[in-house]
Amino acid sequence: MSAPAPVPGSPAVDPASDSEIWIDLKCLRCRYSLRGLRISGRCPECGAPIRLSLQSHVLEFSDPDWVGCLATGGRIVIGALVAFVVLSVPITAWATANHQHFRYVLWLGWGFLAAATVGAWKMTTPNPAVAGSERWYAVRKRVRANLPVVCLVCLVLLLGVPRQTRLVAHAFAGPLGVLGLFAFSGLAAYARDLARRLGERRIVAQAAGVQILLAFTWAGMAIIVSVLVIGGSFARPGTEAPMIVGVFCGLGYLVAALLALALPAQLVEPFRRCRAAAEANWVAAVAASAADSGASRTDAASAAAAAPTGLRSPAPDDTAAHP
Ligand SMILES: [Zn+2]
Repeated sequence: MSAPAPVPGSPAVDPASDSEIWIDLKCLRCRYSLRGLRISGRCPECGAPIRLSLQSHVLEFSDPDWVGCLATGGRIVIGALVAFVVLSVPITAWATANHQHFRYVLWLGWGFLAAATVGAWKMTTPNPAVAGSERWYAVRKRVRANLPVVCLVCLVLLLGVPRQTRLVAHAFAGPLGVLGLFAFSGLAAYARDLARRLGERRIVAQAAGVQILLAFTWAGMAIIVSVLVIGGSFARPGTEAPMIVGVFCGLGYLVAALLALALPAQLVEPFRRCRAAAEANWVAAVAASAADSGASRTDAASAAAAAPTGLRSPAPDDTAAHP
């Protein structure tokens, strides 16, 4: 097998070349620091081909266990969706018969949010091979920071907050506020990026649609509530029409949030295929590298004579080559 295809637009190192690794790259298999080693070489710790670790940001060349972990996140969301749908029928019927039980519908919604947050957390597991090289505002990190907070705020709201809690607090931290918008649209953006990398165009389009729906319904809600509050006519007679539009925007927003939370479920099957491809690529690359080193041993003497003098292997005490 020939070397894996070069990654288009690789940010730091061209895998097709044989230069020295000058970025903080960890071995895909054992997490050993590969800095200072040559691309054509093998990990000194476990013998895995270094070229494979260089492509670990391409999903098909990533750590199969990590890809499996992302798929598990999607499976948790599927479980949450099934439980939500199954339980919603009796609980909604019960709440309709007795309005005092409406609270349980909200608890059901919160349960789904919490379970979907666990799934999203799992699906945003960092790629161990490139951990530490992400920007601080990477969408993956934003999802992990925002969704659990939304979950916690919703729990506090369910347990009961003082009635006089200011509208401003809800506007920022509430599930319908800025924080909620960041969390749900962040998850949609993350799912969209994964779908793009998996070549799933339909899911890319769907995630983009969810992002647009979230933005428009949220903006509609925010504009109507702001105008009514600033005008001092909030919940006064004569403002029924804008209130109804605001409620519709709110319902649309909740549907969009539900769709955003459900997006990881659609990535399970693509991830399952991707994991199989990653495992096959891994086996093939290890076999190819073993064949290469077997062939190179036969003419080791001539290779040593032809080796450029400027190249160096990291010394055992080279701090850059050790984690
Ligand atoms: Zn290794």
